[in-house]
Amino acid sequence: MDPHIPFFQQVNRHFDKAARLTGQPAGLLEQIKQCNSVYHVAFPLKRDDGRIEVIHAWRAEHSSHKLPTKGGIRYATHVSEDEVMALAAMMTYKCALVDVPYGGAKGAVRIDPQQYSEAEIERVTRRFTYELVSKNFIGPGIDVPAPDYGTGSREMSWIVDTYTALSRNALDAAGCVTGKPLELGGIRGRTAATGRGVFFGIREALRDPAALAETRLDPGIEGKRVVIQGLGNVGSHSAKFMAAAGARLTGLAEREGAIHDEKGFDPDAVMAHRAATGSILDFPGATNLPTTEAALELDCDILIPAALENQITAENAGRVRARIVAEAANGPVTAEANDQLLARNVFIIPDIYLNAGGVTVSYFEWVKNLSHVRFGRLDKRFEEMSNRRIMQAVEELTGTRMAPGPLAVATAGAGEAELVDSGLEDTMIGAWREIADTRARYATDARTAAYVISIEKVARSYLDRGIFP
Ligand code: NAD
Repeated sequence: MDPHIPFFQQVNRHFDKAARLTGQPAGLLEQIKQCNSVYHVAFPLKRDDGRIEVIHAWRAEHSSHKLPTKGGIRYATHVSEDEVMALAAMMTYKCALVDVPYGGAKGAVRIDPQQYSEAEIERVTRRFTYELVSKNFIGPGIDVPAPDYGTGSREMSWIVDTYTALSRNALDAAGCVTGKPLELGGIRGRTAATGRGVFFGIREALRDPAALAETRLDPGIEGKRVVIQGLGNVGSHSAKFMAAAGARLTGLAEREGAIHDEKGFDPDAVMAHRAATGSILDFPGATNLPTTEAALELDCDILIPAALENQITAENAGRVRARIVAEAANGPVTAEANDQLLARNVFIIPDIYLNAGGVTVSYFEWVKNLSHVRFGRLDKRFEEMSNRRIMQAVEELTGTRMAPGPLAVATAGAGEAELVDSGLEDTMIGAWREIADTRARYATDARTAAYVISIEKVARSYLDRGIFP
């Protein structure tokens, strides 16, 4: 963030700008804004070489207007109490925006996973889970973590295993965390969900006449020049979906540097090159950029920051040449940079909308865990048989027959993967329509519109419960 403005305060600047449009009472707005509870714990880790190190970790539950609260856990050295509070607040607004029935939360452990062995990370994860259990900061109906920066399904397995053991195998224990591997109660499509959602979100913006007019771009993703910063979970999947839809990935950035090629990159080839050499640099045919940050300033149609917050600041916002900044990461544009970009007519697709695919599919996973049955298990075959009967009737009426291959495709029932993708796509389409309508109603930018929608929904949920009789 801009160095003198803490991250949580920056989120609250977006909140305040939108709150003024809502007409909700000041006291209620203040309640919505506050972070309800924060837990900071310090515990010892015995390193593999016998040394003892103190680990700091946090869990912030921003809003318990709906339970459980929900949000990822990140492992990184830069984390702080302010950061988890800011990210937890964003989770509240994100969940409200996409109608996922949770309050917002976020967790963080201050370690650089690359400096620790797998066994050490496992000890840290299990101990943190134990600390969360002992303070009632985790549980299927309390607070449900998920993967975030520096964590993935491996950490989620240790969390569910520790929680299950401590809760004495409670029936719904698998719902204590999402982003788990399939065999531990995970759901098909969760790993790619955030990136897939990023793709759907950009696609919707590029179909929206008002947004297109502002961006001065032609409709559709095909042929658009795209730059992506960060090729972790969110960035790499966004890259794949964008490339598959015909976008040209002309710039890619990772920690070690950035590469540029106007012909466009095949993301799989770049990832394979990085796996083999340890770096994206020196990719055949590409130009190495002088710094990682230089990628943010490349001339392109769509810039997708997918690494961390605080990437586009008051310092470099003036040099951003993209028409659209698509916020796949949380908080990649500081509040000051946001105002500068808007003043220069750069269209921003806001984080609380664009990366909501992750929590949407996490919600599906939690519902699956609580219902103890895979989506599609009961109806896939039934649906297929019904479709076949309809096709048979059509064939008899028309006297024509479909070939077995196309017939199988046309009549197939939906399994878990298809249902998850369809639910995610529908969520991203529906939420963009709401943003577009709200933008038109208030003549405002997409971020402010998204916050207006979220604030109104959270306010309603407080008022409906009669807290302010
Ligand atoms: P990740 O750890 O899988 O990947 C992050 C990548 O960014 C890493 O490869 C890292 O090397 C790279 N990186 C770090 N600093 C960089 C820099 N200065 N320049 C270029 N690359 C850099 O994390 P992720 O899960 O992909 O999360 C990325 C962002 O998306 C975070 O802001 C996170 O909060 C947000 N997010 C993640 C999810 C999810 O489902 N994982 C959901 C919503 C939002």
